[in-house]
Amino acid sequence: MNLKEKFAVVTGGSRGIGKAIALAFSRSGASVALCGTNEATLKETAAEIEKAGVGCLALKVDVSKGGEVEAFSKAVLEKFGKIDILVNNAGITRDNLLLRMGEDEWDEVLATNLKSAFLMTKFFVKPMMRARQGRIINITSVSGVKGNAGQANYAASKAGMIGLTKTTAREFASRNITCNAVAPGFIQTDMTQSLGEKVQQEVAAQIPLGYLGETSDIAQVVLFLASDGARYITGQVICVDGGMVI
Ligand code: NAP
Repeated sequence: MNLKEKFAVVTGGSRGIGKAIALAFSRSGASVALCGTNEATLKETAAEIEKAGVGCLALKVDVSKGGEVEAFSKAVLEKFGKIDILVNNAGITRDNLLLRMGEDEWDEVLATNLKSAFLMTKFFVKPMMRARQGRIINITSVSGVKGNAGQANYAASKAGMIGLTKTTAREFASRNITCNAVAPGFIQTDMTQSLGEKVQQEVAAQIPLGYLGETSDIAQVVLFLASDGARYITGQVICVDGGMVI
């Protein structure tokens, strides 16, 4: 995939799936801006991206806060001058059974996973509209497609992202801006590592392909959606899950 002279933003690009996406973009020639809440991890990932010889901006941003997202968008546009690709990837889990779930657990997950994507889209779609081109890719989850016991907050945030994706696709299609969602199944990252070995084996047994996915499995699909080859795809949800939602 050739993304030379393209400028991309990846939220939560410092670790896990977001980092794999940011590195895949940089190896294809795109300059990348990333954000996260941990400065040390951001610095490490930025150094890896710069090794590809592209521009990089890594900033500490809490994506759930409108003021911080607006300041981030201004800093990115000041450095890059334009934005071609936005990947809304930052996300958290605060799992609990619905009856035990606190209002704080609900609010934190909805704000970090869903409100953030609305805010980022709002601020970055304007320069895309001016350029009459753009790609927005939202990282949702199979939990948002089929629900998941213990994840009412997370599944609702990810299902909300699917509605946001389809609406964004409709609102900006006339400006040549596409918006698609990628729904990972069970991918090996810090997020899933915390569930422990036993749960991971139980999940793998329910995956038709029989094994957990890797971050590169998601990054390759995102890379395609950002490329010229995907110009006629919009408003879609692509499950990358080894067959979990068949
Ligand atoms: P991860 O390893 O836990 O990484 C999460 C990333 O999001 C980190 O870079 C983190 O940066 C950032 N982040 C979290 N809260 C943030 C905030 N308030 N502001 C800015 N950045 C924030 O997770 P992952 O597994 O790579 O997941 C990435 C995305 O894929 C998430 O949206 C997740 O829901 C989705 N997903 C993952 C799986 C899976 O199996 N792993 C499955 C389906 C969907 P800091 O550490 O610096 O805060």
